[in-house]
Amino acid sequence: MLPRSTLGRPAQRFLGQSPQYVIHRRFRSTKSHYHDAAPEPAIRPPVQISPMARLPTRFLLRSLLLTSLMTSKIFLRPALALISVLSTSKSALLNPDRNIALNKLLRWTVYNHFCAGANKKEVSRTVADVKKIGYQGVILGYSKEIVLDHNEQAASTESSTTQYQERCYEMIEEWKNGTLETLRMVGPGDFLAVKLTGAGPISVDAMRARQPMPEAMAKAVDEICIATEKQGSRLWLDAEQQVLQKGLDDWAIEIMRKHNKGETPIVYNTIQGYLKASKANLDHHLTLASQEGWALGIKLVRGAYIEHETRSLIHDTQQDTDRSYDLIADTMLCQRMPADKQDLQFPKGALFLATHNAASATKATATHQNRLLANKPTIMFECGQIQGMADELSCELVSNYERALAESSAAKLNVPKAFKCMTWGSVSECMGYLHRRAVENRGAVERTQHMVSALRHELWRRIVG
Ligand SMILES: Cc1cc2nc3c(=O)[nH]c(=O)nc-3n(C[C@H](O)[C@H](O)[C@H](O)COP(=O)(O)OP(=O)(O)OC[C@H]3O[C@@H](n4cnc5c(N)ncnc54)[C@H](O)[C@@H]3O)c2cc1C
Repeated sequence: MLPRSTLGRPAQRFLGQSPQYVIHRRFRSTKSHYHDAAPEPAIRPPVQISPMARLPTRFLLRSLLLTSLMTSKIFLRPALALISVLSTSKSALLNPDRNIALNKLLRWTVYNHFCAGANKKEVSRTVADVKKIGYQGVILGYSKEIVLDHNEQAASTESSTTQYQERCYEMIEEWKNGTLETLRMVGPGDFLAVKLTGAGPISVDAMRARQPMPEAMAKAVDEICIATEKQGSRLWLDAEQQVLQKGLDDWAIEIMRKHNKGETPIVYNTIQGYLKASKANLDHHLTLASQEGWALGIKLVRGAYIEHETRSLIHDTQQDTDRSYDLIADTMLCQRMPADKQDLQFPKGALFLATHNAASATKATATHQNRLLANKPTIMFECGQIQGMADELSCELVSNYERALAESSAAKLNVPKAFKCMTWGSVSECMGYLHRRAVENRGAVERTQHMVSALRHELWRRIVG
């Protein structure tokens, strides 16, 4: 890293605000203490010009163009309306998988920026590009959302027994095969993102009614978990809206109980920090994992469904959500059992911090780092952002990781690995996902502007050499 005085003013402003830089300085200030215990590093720390220097120029330009457009209300409103129409329209003309011109336009603009590709060849290339940038891993999910027409719904409902048509069982099979195909596109250490609702009505109805996992579903999930473990990968279960989430949590616990028998988890459940009940939900998970002796994997998000949820279930303000999110991360990293379960031991576990919020990433990283430096117990900790979003934070995380690796041994690392999360599928299949990303950007104007200034600064740095 160059001395700050050699950087332009925008860079100083950016780095001054950048929590990861603070982490880096903290890391360096403890270096001598750290090195007392560690052997002399084999590799010298790389000379870093700027964390974003690792981004290919082609990627930087596309990112700057798109992110700048997303900060413009004049552009974002019609773009959102158009993506919304494209994601729901049944017209062949508006179907990007049938209309070649539309397909090309969407690929050139949003699709290539946010999505991993439409087939194995394209996805493999994107995953390789992401790893070449320096990310320690990827998370890959399949975007296809199964939509039923009226004739394919449950055939009859008698008392509590629902009879499903053969097509509904085929959907579980299709979902399983799609998920296994996605798994084969990632490598050891990477994550598979699993959407249990993607399996269709048998899964969704049972989840909504908070019933045990139907047999066909349990078999498919078992097969996916076993294949994931065999490959040396991990998987996480995406969180859904509240109407489904309680049933999903029950199933997630059942799956973790069965498959998380080792020291570190194979399966992670998602906790949404914006829910008022999220801390109690974490405590419930901690208690069961401790009593039953399985490893608890938690992926922590703030929550994406604020516009569609019963508002009273969600914290009243963004600040309350921020506090809740940071408290849950802190509880995991500091291995704190609930107040009324102090007699229980903290279970084996791991935390994946899924966020674009730099303040939360900084807080959690500092807590984790301080505990390791003080020889206090903590858990495995990793961090990730969505492809095409918060690249300035992701690049800082990657830089911190590489610097720490160069200064220390892998066993002594005290910074989180950095991941990028992406979705694959045809352009048409990804429209729903792209719509959600556009909505998310609309609600995060300040952060998007911060990303634009970081990208602009990086471009300027390259131009002036
Ligand atoms: C890798 C990854 C995986 C994800 N997987 C899932 C998933 O499985 N399920 C899911 O639901 N989401 C998921 N998300 C999305 C996530 O829940 C957030 O919507 C998104 O990341 C924005 O939150 P943030 O932590 O990045 O921080 P910020 O952008 O700082 O926070 C924005 C969030 O704060 C909350 N918020 C905003 N305004 C208010 C308010 N007035 N009152 C209370 N709370 C408010 C909302 O949750 C909003 O999304 C994922 C995100 C990432 C990065």
